[in-house]
Amino acid sequence: MFWQEEIEVISREELQRIQLYSLQETIRRLYYNVPFYNQKFRDVNLKPDDIKSLEDIQRLPFTTRDDLRENYPYGLLAVPREKIVRLHTSSGTTGKPKAIFFTKKDIDQSAELIARCLIMTGVKSDDILQNMMTYGLFTGALVMHYGAEKVGILVIPAGPGNTERQIALMQDFGSTCLHLTPSYALYLAEVMDSKGIVPQRDLSLRRAYLGAEPYSEETRIKLENMLGIDIYNSYGLSEMNGPGVAFECKYKDGMHIWEDNFLIEVLDPDTDEPVPEGQEGEIVLTTLKREGMPLLRYRTKDIAKIIPDTCRCGRTHKRISRIFGRVDDMFIVRGVNIFPQQIERVLMGIKGVAQNYQIHLEAYDKMTVKVEIEQDFFDGNIEKLLALKSRITEKLKSEILVTPQVELLEPGTLPISEGKAQRVIDNRNL
Ligand code: ADP
Ligand code: ZN
Repeated sequence: MFWQEEIEVISREELQRIQLYSLQETIRRLYYNVPFYNQKFRDVNLKPDDIKSLEDIQRLPFTTRDDLRENYPYGLLAVPREKIVRLHTSSGTTGKPKAIFFTKKDIDQSAELIARCLIMTGVKSDDILQNMMTYGLFTGALVMHYGAEKVGILVIPAGPGNTERQIALMQDFGSTCLHLTPSYALYLAEVMDSKGIVPQRDLSLRRAYLGAEPYSEETRIKLENMLGIDIYNSYGLSEMNGPGVAFECKYKDGMHIWEDNFLIEVLDPDTDEPVPEGQEGEIVLTTLKREGMPLLRYRTKDIAKIIPDTCRCGRTHKRISRIFGRVDDMFIVRGVNIFPQQIERVLMGIKGVAQNYQIHLEAYDKMTVKVEIEQDFFDGNIEKLLALKSRITEKLKSEILVTPQVELLEPGTLPISEGKAQRVIDNRNL
């Protein structure tokens, strides 16, 4: 099923033609309406008419988070302030928030993209979406909400938190789809388990959309088994509308990025040169349809790769892999570069490990992985506990090449998060 079939299965040639047209149009508007971009073009001696092909994008200047901050609050508007109808900010995981503005057309367009995503995963008119992301300045909940309303399904604007009430809502109204962060989904599954709720038996859930933070395939599998549903990966960032940038289809093998709206480049973060398709690099995005606040070559700092083949679902828009992490999530222990994702992947693949973990960095060479394990391991059988501990340590060591301290904890010991989880506690610079 498609929401906008003609654009979702468009030929690559036609898609590229539309992209070039939209890019040229975006550039003209930025050049004439946004002093910041006008200056950037002048700095490199470039005029809008110089951009004649999609490859020419490489001549354009980048936009960084700092550019957004320096032009805060209204500096990057490409339309008069009166045309703006909504403000969002990024959730501020990495510093001072960045302001993002939507015109009416932008709101409508972001909802169209969500509609494509939902229909792509099999949503039908009888579906009921329980939206457990944070409503407010964060884009996650509202953008999804408008998209689901556009499809015409019932949306329960639950917001995050109050897990027992969330479960009651699922029971009372028969929610079939959930939208939430992976860390909250892990907690939700744990609470259901502790209350003896068997989702397959007691609830009507069919699928969940998980995004806003990195998680591994192991976590998806674990959650799909615990909840008895299909889990779809959803990628987005406030700077690019929020959710709906890239989303998985039924085949759950990479996320289709809506290329008529976003021009994607994958660059080597050190050299800024494009990497060959299929190789990991930093995702750099240019908005092609945005009216209020178009952005050119935005450095997302997210690491992923393009999946080269075409998808069995028939959509021609390219797919990106899971987001491996952010360039700035990486930390170094004993000279080895480590992404939190690597640790998560190992932990979530080990039987006996429960849902929550944290990484504590103490000194340049000391790292402790605190991990909650299933309650059964605390039955007094020390040998069983030690065997699990050494299994976790060994598996982590073979993945990250450093031997961490491992601390096993009872379920419910570590702080839980309803939004984005704080997985790395860095005490090294205190
Ligand atoms: P902030 O930058 O303050 O966290 P956002 O809420 O806009 O603000 O978060 C967007 C970021 O969240 C992305 O750049 C990416 O790092 C992360 N993210 C979003 N969706 C996913 C996903 N499905 N997988 C991994 N990371 C994701
Ligand atoms: Zn597909």
